[in-house]
Order: sequence, then structure tokens, then C-alpha cells
Amino acid sequence: TSKFPYSNVLVLGLARSGTAASLVLLQNDKKVRINDMSANEYDENVQTLKSMGAEVIVGSHPLSVLDDIEIVVKNPGISYDNSILVEAKNRSIPIITEVEIAGQLAGDSIIGITGSNGKTTTTTLTTEMLLASNSKVKVAGNIGTVASQVAQELEDKEKLVLELSSFQLLGIESFKPKVAVLLNIYEAHIDYHKTFANYKEAKFNIFSNQTFDDYLVYNSDDHEVVEAVKRAASRLVPFSVTNRLLDGAWADEKSIYFKDEKIIDRSEIVLVGDHNLENILAALSAAKLSGATNAGIRSVLTSFSSVKHRLQFVETINNRLFYNDSKATNILATQKALSSFTQPTILLAGGLDRGNEFEDLLPYLKNVKAMVLFGQTAEKLKKLAEEADIQEVKIAANVEDAVVKAYSLSVTDDVILLSPACASWDQYKTFEERGDMFIQAVHTLM
Ligand code: ADP
Repeated sequence: TSKFPYSNVLVLGLARSGTAASLVLLQNDKKVRINDMSANEYDENVQTLKSMGAEVIVGSHPLSVLDDIEIVVKNPGISYDNSILVEAKNRSIPIITEVEIAGQLAGDSIIGITGSNGKTTTTTLTTEMLLASNSKVKVAGNIGTVASQVAQELEDKEKLVLELSSFQLLGIESFKPKVAVLLNIYEAHIDYHKTFANYKEAKFNIFSNQTFDDYLVYNSDDHEVVEAVKRAASRLVPFSVTNRLLDGAWADEKSIYFKDEKIIDRSEIVLVGDHNLENILAALSAAKLSGATNAGIRSVLTSFSSVKHRLQFVETINNRLFYNDSKATNILATQKALSSFTQPTILLAGGLDRGNEFEDLLPYLKNVKAMVLFGQTAEKLKKLAEEADIQEVKIAANVEDAVVKAYSLSVTDDVILLSPACASWDQYKTFEERGDMFIQAVHTLM
């Protein structure tokens, strides 16, 4: 980080990203102080960082940790109400997330992807398209690996595809992707950002430092997005699933196109779901602007079936098709999933009760012939099923039991879909664990 213009850095919040960012800073000869409430003096990572020269203060947040500090690198999960951050603001000390450091390290190699929904899918597709075009590429960010750490390991001419959350984007100063992607904006995470306006501003940070040399791929079907990008200095590359475009990616009933060039027929695309068409158009635009070939893009689209737990095709057993959409932790996601199938469907749903009702699912239940329900919301969903006049409704103990019950209700060519419309925390640690249990239960049927 020779370009990183600060010597005395406070890393606030250790966890995985704080640990990685501290390592990167230390390796670049920065003076690093770390403050974490819950880490232990004797944790292995704390010991390692100390041995490399970091000063570590755990267990409390004394304001003196800010003395002589030029910049604070905060964990994206820490609220700006934190006493250290409030004091940093008072002292006019800039506050960033480690994504800013990634930007300093990776420069023009970055393809940055954000939006309320579809980030992981689009990030994965873009990466795969570049790989299939024999480009050198790494992927990091919100998707799993720490951005600054991967940026540090980047080779010459290698691209870095970053999935970026609004939390990460709040903490940038000069960070800018060479190619930015803005997928969509829905109301989400309002608890953290206080207002929808704040949340939008955080997302729009993805292009706020871009110049006329940079590209901004954006969803021209999303009103909020269209309004926002009017402020961008970047070269605009729209995508649309409804309009023919001369300057970006688009689709008609039969094919998808980039500008005036046909890329592939839609019948050849393996990934299901209307929402995924948007993700595909965004990804292929970003990939093409970063040097991907049509052959590479096509080879991904004819083979890539899903990201794990997102409308993931699991298995066909006796002509029943099993799909794992455990990532569907809200009603909107389950609507998307149900819209993706025309076959008779057995829906597995339920989970944590957040106090909301489910009537917005009603218009999407046309193809649902049976429902198997579990978790805290099972009874609520049962009432919905009765309203929809669904004949077969069963309550199951958990997802594993639901798979067995669903199979007993199924006939040839049915879709058996886990798309819970609820978070998993009443019965599972994470949506990933819930999805893994589903997959395991499906395999047990064989
Ligand atoms: P993210 O990383 O932003 O959470 P994912 O790619 O993991 O997004 O997709 C999560 C869920 O969001 C999917 O299962 C689907 O229900 C929904 N989704 C995905 N892409 C879109 C999109 N372009 N528009 C609306 N909803 C989407």
C-alpha cells in the first residue's frame, strides 16, 4: 500500500476482515493499533498480529485508542453509533472499511458489483465468464474472502471481481471500480442505515469516484437506479429485460444481446428464474467490458446452473425435480422462486417468525399443489394454504422431515422446492445449514 497515504491506523473490530486488513497493513509497514471488544488477548490471531508489531487493545473501547491515529478501518458490521466512531468523527479522523485498502492495492483491476438482490449470483457469473475466457481473475468481498487480502495477492494483469455490500461501500474515500455494476435497489437493511435514503446513498457510492474512463453497468428497468446514475461521471452501460438497447445488454423473448450483437438463445441458458436474466445481462456486460469473449460467456451460460442455496438444482429422483432455495429468507425471494416454475410444485416453507403475514405469496401459488411447512411460521402458512385452496398441506418437524413428507405427496414431473420465505434461525444456524440439510435429506431418498 505505498499509495495508502496513512501511517498510523486504528483497526476497529477484529473478526475475519479486521484480522486480514491488519495483516495487509502490517505487511505494508503501517503502524497498526487494533481495538476489539470481544477478542481475547490469547487468541491465535491476536498473538500473530502482536508478534508482527500490532498494538492490541481488547475488552473495552477507551477513547485514547484514537490518539495519534490518522484513519480508522472499521469492520462493516460495526454501527456508526459506536463510541470510538463518534469520537473519531468529532476529531475529524476519516473512517473507512477495508474495501478502501483493496482499492488502493488493486487500482484499475476492480470490477465491483452491488445491489439489493443478485449480488452473489452476478459476481459468480462475471468471474466464471472471465475464467472461461482465459482471463486471470480473482473474486472476493461480501461473497466470502476479504477484499484487501485478495487484492494484496493479485498478480499482474489479473482482474478482481468484488461483491460489495452497502455496509462496505459506506466506508470508502477514493475507492472506485474500473467497471461498476448496480443491479437494483429495494428497501432493505433499514435498521442499520436508519433511512432508505441513507441506504441508497451507500449503494450509489459504487460509482461516486468513477470518472469518464470507468464504466457503470446499471439496470435501466429500475427507476431508482436510473435516477441515481444521472449523477455519475462514468460511461454508462445500461441493461434491460424489457427494452432493446443500442448501448448495453438486453433480451427479447428468444435471445439475449449486447448492443447489436446476439450472444445466445435463451433456450440454451441453463440458469432458471426471470430475476437471473437480469443478473446474466449485468454479468455479461461487466465481463465483456473487462475482456471476456463471447465463446467464454456462452460456455458459462450453457453450463452454469446456480449458486449454492439460490434456486439450486439438486437432483432428479424418480422424475421429481428437487430445488434448494434456502437463501429465500423473505417473501420476495420466494415469489421469485415460484415464478420460475410452470410445473406442479410442492413448496417447502417456514422458519423464523418475524411477525409478518404471508398474503403477498397468494398470487404466486397457482402451480403449488401441496405445501409442507415447518418452523415457527408453519401455522400461519397453513392458513395461507387453506386460503389458496391447496389440497395437501402437511406440517413437518424440520426440513429433513419435510423432504420425506413432500416426496410421499409427489408424482412424476413434480418440482419439490425448498423456498422458505423465512429466516432459518428458529431451527438452523444459517440458511446454508438449512440448505445442506435439505440436500442431505434428498440424497437419503435415493
Ligand atoms: P445477494 O448476494 O444480493 O443476496 P443472491 O445472488 O445471493 O443475492 O440472490 C439471493 C436471492 O435474491 C435469490 O435467491 C433470489 O430470490 C433473489 N434475487 C437474485 N437476483 C435478483 C434480481 N436480479 N432481482 C431480484 N431478486 C433477485
